[in-house]
Amino acid sequence: MSFALKKTKMPEQSPEVRNKNFCEVALGYSDDDAILEARRCLQCKTAPCRKGCPVEVDIPAFINQIKQGDIESSNLIIKSTNALPAVCGRVCPQEEQCEKYCVLAKKGEAVGIGRLERFVADYARVHGEVLNAVEFAANAQRVAVIGSGPASLTVAGELAKRSYKVTVFEALHLPGGVLMYGIPEFRLPKDIVQAEIANLGKLGVEMVVNSVIGQTFTVDELLDEEGFHAVFIGTGAGLPHFMGMEGENLNGVYSANEFLTRCNLMKAYQFPAYKTPIHVGKNVAVIGGGNVALDAARTALRLGAQKVYIVYRRSEEEMPARREEVHHAEEEGVDFRLLTSPLSIASDTKGWVTGLKTLRMELGEQDSSGRRRPVEVVGSEAELAVDTVIIAIGQGPNPLVQATTTGLAVDKRGNIVADAETGETSRMGVFAGGDIVTGAATVILAMGAGKKAATAIDAYLQKLKTAQACSV
Ligand code: FAD
Ligand code: SF4
Ligand code: SF4
Repeated sequence: MSFALKKTKMPEQSPEVRNKNFCEVALGYSDDDAILEARRCLQCKTAPCRKGCPVEVDIPAFINQIKQGDIESSNLIIKSTNALPAVCGRVCPQEEQCEKYCVLAKKGEAVGIGRLERFVADYARVHGEVLNAVEFAANAQRVAVIGSGPASLTVAGELAKRSYKVTVFEALHLPGGVLMYGIPEFRLPKDIVQAEIANLGKLGVEMVVNSVIGQTFTVDELLDEEGFHAVFIGTGAGLPHFMGMEGENLNGVYSANEFLTRCNLMKAYQFPAYKTPIHVGKNVAVIGGGNVALDAARTALRLGAQKVYIVYRRSEEEMPARREEVHHAEEEGVDFRLLTSPLSIASDTKGWVTGLKTLRMELGEQDSSGRRRPVEVVGSEAELAVDTVIIAIGQGPNPLVQATTTGLAVDKRGNIVADAETGETSRMGVFAGGDIVTGAATVILAMGAGKKAATAIDAYLQKLKTAQACSV
């Protein structure tokens, strides 16, 4: 059997147009594109692609329905295991997940599984998909879910489908976690995220926003006083790391977290229609080499910066960002200063940033992460003339819930210790998953953890019910 070696091309806005607007970069497949791409799938009996999907989407089955032109059925297949397909189709690192295992990848490019998933989810949304409401028994057990990122949304959806009453408590004014406040509009439109979350509402999930657990209620209070039978903690990794270098508190220095939150969640790019302003200078240096750094750099370009640098101390090969994002950023004009390590930030007499002092690096021996360690080149100090510096070197856990919950074990980084297969923590009835357990990772790994935790919470609540019935 012969098949096209390359994926059907994804239509995109051209780089010189898109780097000045916040509209989505990738425009999505047409019906014809989708059918063409679906036909590339060989419908392998063993479906090796499925082992790369943490939420176990039945990939050949949903693609087969696209081939038949039955998109509603395709959507039902995806939705039976994945509550956020329009999100996953856009931001899953598919090349490291499902597509990595596609047999076609051995000779050419894998089937565009993510692109097809996005096509189906978008079609279903536009054509008004029908979701069956869940009936709750009057005595349905109650589950509190803390945080509303992909781990929590998955737990909430899975448990609602099993007829538990789920309440999600979110500290911010909109649910979605990083999907709302971190990943920019031009990669993941916010109305699409909210539409997927609204579907959970149709399943009976209650969302309580502006509610900081550890302040509004503690986990102990939720279990002992507020009538919840189990708690899931999915509070993510939202606390930005800094480098501790000179000049980090100058005017014009942001953490990527603040910069992106202002832009995405508070819609600063639409100031003054929205009330949050954002200052971005003419020349911007973003420190870091992950997705967060690239998102900040591409956002700065769209806010009008004339020159945007990525300053990263290793080479492109070691960059943790997705290749696709690096390629998009290069196309849009981001200037990559690789093998360059920041030393300190320089300022004028009024405390505004005027430059980033750097040092050139070369790659030495492999370190414990398996990557070659950057080594300083003596005498290579230089200064990049910039007026804004954005620090994107990683995030850690917010300690509030851990500090206010009795008997909850944490590791030396402050992440919650939880069983990788069940999400069980050291506290009975309390489960955890996503970035708060693993450290900053990916949407689909958080969702996979949420799925496993939902199964374990279901088993725990059934046991609890039986024990309570026996003791009456
Ligand atoms: P989060 O999404 O972090 O959500 C946690 C939620 O908990 C937040 O809404 C927070 O406000 C809330 N919360 C915290 N404390 C409390 C409290 N005490 N009470 C109530 N609520 C609380 N991954 C990908 O797969 N692909 C990408 O392209 C990608 N790009 C990224 C870009 C950026 C800028 C960032 C920051 C991350 C990106 N990631 C990407 C990583 C991915 O978004 C995360 O791994 C994922 O969102 C983790 O999900 P989570 O559910 O664990 O937590
Ligand atoms: Fe692939 Fe992600 Fe979809 Fe799973 S959810 S099939 S990993 S794109
Ligand atoms: Fe289709 Fe690739 Fe999965 Fe085979 S491995 S079923 S070709 S997506």
